[in-house]
Amino acid sequence: MLEILTVQRLGKNLNGYYGETIDIRSVLRDIEAAALAYGWTSEIFHTKGDLDWVALHRPARTTDQVSRIHISAGIHGDEPAGPLAARQLIQDDRWPGNVEIFLLPCLNPLGFLLNQRANPEGIDLNRDYRNPRSTETRRHIAWLERQPQFDLYLCLHEDWEAHGFYLYETNPDERSPLAENIIAAVAPVCPVDGSEIIEGRPAQGGIIRPKVSLLDRPDWPEAFYHLTHKARHGCTLEAPSDFALPVRVNALVAAVNAALSAVAK
Ligand SMILES: [Zn+2]
Repeated sequence: MLEILTVQRLGKNLNGYYGETIDIRSVLRDIEAAALAYGWTSEIFHTKGDLDWVALHRPARTTDQVSRIHISAGIHGDEPAGPLAARQLIQDDRWPGNVEIFLLPCLNPLGFLLNQRANPEGIDLNRDYRNPRSTETRRHIAWLERQPQFDLYLCLHEDWEAHGFYLYETNPDERSPLAENIIAAVAPVCPVDGSEIIEGRPAQGGIIRPKVSLLDRPDWPEAFYHLTHKARHGCTLEAPSDFALPVRVNALVAAVNAALSAVAK
């Protein structure tokens, strides 16, 4: 049966996220089961209580022109679409043959238990990548230091203020841009935020190309760590929280698939 999704703003996420919550333990169990079934390997890089922080790895299926991609989700515990999109992508198993994927489906599982952006100590992990204070970020960085360089990073997020999907693309070496392909793929499944200013930055058709002055900022997001250490090109994908959860998941899944097929060409 065809599922008809409401793609209208819900109008309930005012001054914060008041939408659906997820059982992160069960989502992570699904992810690990699907990853195992499709031949991924899994590494635990941090544990607290019964929760594991996992890094999943899927080798390329060819040795020719392989692109290495780091995909991360769930750094903000009130943004459920990211881990759900990671689950969908792994279950769908439609990866191009010449991409090697490093997928971290949830960087802040404790935040999800509390349905809050920050970790339990109140640290916004996505502002913690320059001089990390949190164990979660330190462990992620320690894991990153053991990995090869990536050709691309993709960070999966949501924004409760957004009027539609938008993204940041950082591409200081001016490689083939991805943002237009991503927006074209998302537009059929989720509205795109057409605002001229988003989060205080000039935007065009849902695309922000920030001027990155890294040294000015003491509070590096994860993307800045990738840019300075691991990947010179990447996108931060922002699904609009004030739309139904399946719409946001579809938006992130379409965005990742579009980025991968562009890179894999
Ligand atoms: Zn976020």
